[in-house]
Amino acid sequence: MDTPAPALVVAIDGPSGSGKSSVSRRTAQRLGLAYLDTGAMYRAATWWCLDQDVRLDDAEAVAAQVLRMPLVMGVDPAAPTVHVGTVDVGAPIRSPEISAQVSAVATNLAVRAELGRLQREAIAAQTRPGSFSDGRGVVAEGRDITTVIAPDADVRLLLTASEEARLARRALEVHGSDDAAAVAATRDAVVRRDADDSTVVEFRTAADGVVTIDSSDLDLEQTVEAVLEVVARVTGRRA
Ligand code: C5P
Repeated sequence: MDTPAPALVVAIDGPSGSGKSSVSRRTAQRLGLAYLDTGAMYRAATWWCLDQDVRLDDAEAVAAQVLRMPLVMGVDPAAPTVHVGTVDVGAPIRSPEISAQVSAVATNLAVRAELGRLQREAIAAQTRPGSFSDGRGVVAEGRDITTVIAPDADVRLLLTASEEARLARRALEVHGSDDAAAVAATRDAVVRRDADDSTVVEFRTAADGVVTIDSSDLDLEQTVEAVLEVVARVTGRRA
């Protein structure tokens, strides 16, 4: 019998609108790996605190509430899910209300410690047989994944794109158009949120050993191909 290949951990970070979620999902599908969306965990924590009437400016109350969050992350890249208890929060955590407030929760260091612990656990679980990937591994994405959460990942990538490209993508996603009005309406969500988030995590420049891919002029499939090329070059593994 062939010995199974060792687990592969691919860590991808980058700013809002860099395309990291879609690229990470597609990459996980192509490689037969699980997919972990760490941003969804910060969004779920925000949803949970608001649902439980916890004021987001009360850092201690927020941290205590997050410790009690019954979060269940579904890691199938074809259909990722997020549940808090029995509530499917997949759609509500993408609302503009949550997007506007998530940085307040994500800049809470006690929250980062707890969600970081859950993220490390979720990544380790995918390196073991019997998990969703049956030990093949995971593509994990999020702003501090390559540096803080999984600095020893097999492949570490920073996905970037020009501000113009990122604004146009988010505008299209959220407003269905990338005309001037839609881009202006998106500017806060993208530029302000990245500025707030970068006060606690550095995700705009690549750390040592992290490979940068600029997707400004690439479509989704081309970006996935670029990621797969790096995976093959670094690990010898092909999709
Ligand atoms: O990637 P996404 O836009 O869903 O992330 C939502 C928010 O979660 C980010 O704006 C950031 O505040 C936070 N986040 C984080 N660290 C991560 C992933 C997301 O602080 N690893």
